[in-house]
Amino acid sequence: MSIAQHISTILSQLKSSSAKLIAVTKTRSIEELKSTYEAGILDFGENRVQEMVEKQSQLPPDIRWHQIGHLQTNKVKYIAPFVHLIHSVDSFKLLKEINAQGKKLGRIIPCLFQMYIAQEESKFGLDQNELLSILSSPEFAELQHIKIIGLMGMASFTENEAQIVAEFSSLHDIFIELQTNKTGYSTGLVEWKELSMGMSGDFLIAAKLGSTMVRVGSAIYGARS
Ligand SMILES: *Cc1c(COP(=O)(O)O)cnc(C)c1O
Repeated sequence: MSIAQHISTILSQLKSSSAKLIAVTKTRSIEELKSTYEAGILDFGENRVQEMVEKQSQLPPDIRWHQIGHLQTNKVKYIAPFVHLIHSVDSFKLLKEINAQGKKLGRIIPCLFQMYIAQEESKFGLDQNELLSILSSPEFAELQHIKIIGLMGMASFTENEAQIVAEFSSLHDIFIELQTNKTGYSTGLVEWKELSMGMSGDFLIAAKLGSTMVRVGSAIYGARS
């Protein structure tokens, strides 16, 4: 099947949910990205800064670039001018650097907090206490060049569907809790509207559990080499 056919299958599977498709284009060629764009997808997810910057300069300007992988503080400056959404904010230090770069550019950079929900050692992310400590910090209230618009999380890489359901549900619970209980922090630049969860192996589960953005790579392009 072609890229366009895979995309159309995935879009029909997502029809009954409110999840939007982010095509995860890391490691894929410019030709594959062009085919994706021609299939009508404008949201592209990359996890390496250098790769995103190189691709962005070669592709149409209406593509919305999503930083989905771990972001090093010293690399923020390269994507700050154009990035549409940073899904992977996993420390206060990183958030402050994004704010500093946004300030230099006179823009407000949309961000998600990446939450740690998996039972795996290697994944990045915040736990609930760390999140609440950032949100309630007086310094947070002073950040004028970032906007928090939601949460991101990755489930464990497992065949155990019950575990994936439990992990995504726990993230959804935190999201709903934040939406309903806004006390204790400045709400100015916070709007809990996006829940980025679901990848090729689990996006259908995530979509049923309230995801608003699924990040799908190999189900569109095949396995990464
Ligand atoms: C690579 C990646 C994806 C997409 O993975 P697939 O299994 O190829 O769909 C989604 N989210 C993040 C953070 C990734 O790094």
